[in-house]
Amino acid sequence: MLQIVALFLLVMLLLGLGGKLRRGGRLRGPKDQTQLKPPRKCARCGRFLIGGGDCDCDRKG
Ligand SMILES: [Zn+2]
Repeated sequence: MLQIVALFLLVMLLLGLGGKLRRGGRLRGPKDQTQLKPPRKCARCGRFLIGGGDCDCDRKG
């Protein structure tokens, strides 16, 4: 019985660590996701496009 309980606890611990790692990667927020993405530059003016991706120069022409 003790072996089964110990094994169960070990499995739960591993699952918990895996869940924490997965949740930590996902629940860090959109800020980290934007930071991980390489910064896009506007093809026309060369400014960094943060967020939406539309530039002012594109609207002005
Ligand atoms: Zn531009």
